[in-house]
Amino acid sequence: LLRAEGISRSFGSTPALREASLSVTAGEVLAIMGPSGSGKSTLLHCLAGIFTPDSGEVWFDGRRLDTLDDSRRSELRRTAFGFVFQFGQLVPELTVTDNVALPLLLGRARRKDAYERAASWLERLELAGLGGRRTAELSGGQAQRVAIARALVTRPRVIFADEPTGALDSLTGEHVMDQLVGLAREEGAAVIVVTHDARVAACADREVVVRDGKVTDPYASGIVR
Ligand code: ATP
Ligand code: MG
Repeated sequence: LLRAEGISRSFGSTPALREASLSVTAGEVLAIMGPSGSGKSTLLHCLAGIFTPDSGEVWFDGRRLDTLDDSRRSELRRTAFGFVFQFGQLVPELTVTDNVALPLLLGRARRKDAYERAASWLERLELAGLGGRRTAELSGGQAQRVAIARALVTRPRVIFADEPTGALDSLTGEHVMDQLVGLAREEGAAVIVVTHDARVAACADREVVVRDGKVTDPYASGIVR
């Protein structure tokens, strides 16, 4: 479904990715692990079309993603991809319901449909009672569940999550991750999750390790188990 082939990306003279290759199939949950600064976030951003790699190719659903023009790329991000990050993704001035409905409204859905779908996702994430709150008033775990509802509301084909449980205690983190993976599986969406937490990675179908900007198979290289 989504594939990076030999992508490299530098920031100034710092190489962040060095001919990294990775692929994910429809409905698969893939964990990306690796030390801080190894290039995990950069890889995720290149796969999601947020960054353009300096060289190499990114393919989504049989189409080149990295060479699409900006407007086509952001259209694709809006319609086919969902994002869950560690912080700062919700609009604090808006209510929970408005935050979840926002991607649909930006996609010009009818208000009534957008709010019905937002309400149903809040229910699926056990947030039904919190719809009227401002997101600034939520706990970390609640906020991440709102972020998951917002990422899923557009029915994306791929969900990108960068340390989605990084700001949570491990029990809450595990619950949030279970919900993300469980709902993504029900929807048939692929999930690519960057994490430092081995328990989060254990929810995935497969894991890879990024080291010095390269993707390594943890089994082949003996890093894991
Ligand atoms: P962490 O686990 O700490 O989040 P990471 O594996 O996600 O680390 P990246 O954020 O991908 O690592 O960074 C890889 C390298 O690229 C690092 O050396 C980092 O300093 C550099 N880098 C990343 N983003 C930028 C940027 N916007 N400008 C300059 N350098 C950057
Ligand atoms: Mg990172």
